[in-house]
Amino acid sequence: MSFLPTYTVFGNPIAHSKSPIIHQLFAQQEGVAIDYSRTLVDANQQAFSKAVNDFFQAGLGANVTLPFKTWAFELVDELSEGARAAGAVNTLIYKDKTLIGDNTDGLGLVRDLRDNCKMDLRDKRVLILGAGGAARGIILPLLNEQVAEITLANRTHEKALQLAQQFSIRAQTFTELSGSYDVIINATSGSVSGSIPNISADLFSGCLLAYDLFYANEDTAFMRFARNAGAKNVADGLGMLVGQAAESYRLWRGFSPDCAPVLTALREKKDN
Ligand code: NDP
Repeated sequence: MSFLPTYTVFGNPIAHSKSPIIHQLFAQQEGVAIDYSRTLVDANQQAFSKAVNDFFQAGLGANVTLPFKTWAFELVDELSEGARAAGAVNTLIYKDKTLIGDNTDGLGLVRDLRDNCKMDLRDKRVLILGAGGAARGIILPLLNEQVAEITLANRTHEKALQLAQQFSIRAQTFTELSGSYDVIINATSGSVSGSIPNISADLFSGCLLAYDLFYANEDTAFMRFARNAGAKNVADGLGMLVGQAAESYRLWRGFSPDCAPVLTALREKKDN
């Protein structure tokens, strides 16, 4: 049992998680010592509930990653507006004997777009590709930045339609997409296997930033495609990962870390 302020990330698999190193770098910025561990949990709902309950006997806060984000949503006593909109929880906070669920993924993206990509989102036309959990989590935070519009397109159009209806935005099929977008966000999991959504290269002609939520040691196939098609800037999702962690840290400790040096340190480590 640690006597330090104790945090963890629940996931399966979890050995690859960068969260411990990110949060230790945040703690250095704050000038405190924390204990931040990885917790591998069997991928069933009962095991997850027990692991959370055991951890919060002494723990102060936790992150939640795949495959537990929707179970965390069901488990908590209270949900933030962001978690409700996302339908998923990535941050657990224990306060006044209440387990609160929040979702910082979308704010993490907005923070990365603003601070590292230098993108002012106000009045921008945004295209989101994909309609899974990540897409759902980023829509409200992007709308809150007063973008001009968001169009959603997904391989399975029915899913895009449902999600678009929830947020009163437009859904189009990949082939219906036309014109140009200031910001194009790849929220599909295609990059995991090196595949690119089946969309026209013309969409990138006036694109200021093409952003892939996925991250790896090198540019993703989507980033290469976007750059060749005329996108002025491209970025991967490592900055979003650091940004969501920073928002979690702020919720737990009231200290808002500077993401830029942490992002630089992770890129230099090159062991993504
Ligand atoms: P989900 O499994 O919930 O959704 C996957 C989405 O990708 C669906 O819309 C699916 O379409 C689409 N898709 C999958 N393969 C293809 C393909 N070959 N072509 C076109 N569309 C495809 O995944 P998540 O939403 O959780 O994650 C999406 C991505 O975001 C992942 O790469 C993940 O790593 C990344 N991510 C990054 C984070 C960060 O901090 N940087 C945080 C969270 C996620 P369909 O509906 O037709 O199946």
